[in-house]
Amino acid sequence: MKVTEYFKQANQQTLISFEVLPPLKGGQMQDIFDALDPLMEFKPPFIDVTYHREEFIYKKRASGYYEKTAIRKRPGTVGICASIMHRYGVDAVPHLICGGFTEEDTENALIDLHFLNINNVLALRGDARQFEGKFVPEAGGHEYALDMVKQVVDMNNGKYLDTNIENGAHTDFCIGIAGYPEKHFESPNLELDLQYTKAKIDAGANYIVTQMFFDNQKYFAYVDACRAAGINVPIVPGLKPLTKLYQLNSIPRLFHLDMPADLVKAFSEAKTPEARLTVGIEWCVAQSKELKAAGAPCLHYYTMGDSSTIRRIAENVY
Ligand code: FAD
Repeated sequence: MKVTEYFKQANQQTLISFEVLPPLKGGQMQDIFDALDPLMEFKPPFIDVTYHREEFIYKKRASGYYEKTAIRKRPGTVGICASIMHRYGVDAVPHLICGGFTEEDTENALIDLHFLNINNVLALRGDARQFEGKFVPEAGGHEYALDMVKQVVDMNNGKYLDTNIENGAHTDFCIGIAGYPEKHFESPNLELDLQYTKAKIDAGANYIVTQMFFDNQKYFAYVDACRAAGINVPIVPGLKPLTKLYQLNSIPRLFHLDMPADLVKAFSEAKTPEARLTVGIEWCVAQSKELKAAGAPCLHYYTMGDSSTIRRIAENVY
């Protein structure tokens, strides 16, 4: 079923969903099941699976020279989605990115999903590769997530890249996109970022999932700004608890967001890893309860390989 159908059926109740990462290459499907099994009692109607493009690594050769090699450390998104649907009978939402994909690759990926009866997709641009200063689209690929949204919509209308195809099968994808309460880091300002977000909605995207945030006021202000800009689709808050000391710096660096002073103070003053974990969990529980009370359509938790912490949070909220 489509993610937006779940929102409609929920009748103002706040749903719960989770995002998982494919295991590192060499891992196995059981790793995902081990992460998800403890979370399924909360009855998520859908689970997102991230997509990870190739990265470049430099291998030292016997000659002393370094060879640049492309590797994908976390392949398997589509297979994981199919396995999740098969095992749990819930919907899976594969993330699909522009980076590393030609339009033809994207079309073929969507055909695979359609044949697997996967009717949801989160359409994303992806980030710049490591060692590349800015995002570089694949030759013959999309520069912005907007272009991917348009391609998915075309396929929903039976329109394929090969214009010789007449009466092509209509796919039926529900399309999610990313949103940034603290603005996308490349965007000069939130207003412009919202214009581009609106362009994706106008092109046919159906809902927004936000980047993580630690201050609910940022989410509430973002929803207000979206509504003022004419964006009227469901906006799902993405949540991740702060759990480790190094994340005080790594999360702002990687996700381009501010940490509230109260959280930073409480976390820094906690003396042990368990005390810090308790602070992070309590903060995320408080965020979750407030978002739920405010009528958020769904709370979407980024598990990031730590589903036991997410379980401790969900137990206090659902
Ligand atoms: P876009 O919508 O293309 O926007 C990128 C930037 O370009 C923004 O600054 C925007 O304002 C600007 N822009 C947009 N359209 C235009 C235009 N027409 N002209 C000029 N400027 C424009 N990354 C992964 O690699 N794999 C994942 O699985 C993944 N999952 C994610 C899930 C969520 C919920 C979120 C919030 C992010 C996720 N990301 C993932 C990260 C995402 O790929 C990056 O944040 C990326 O930098 C931007 O993606 P986007 O889809 O928002 O891009």
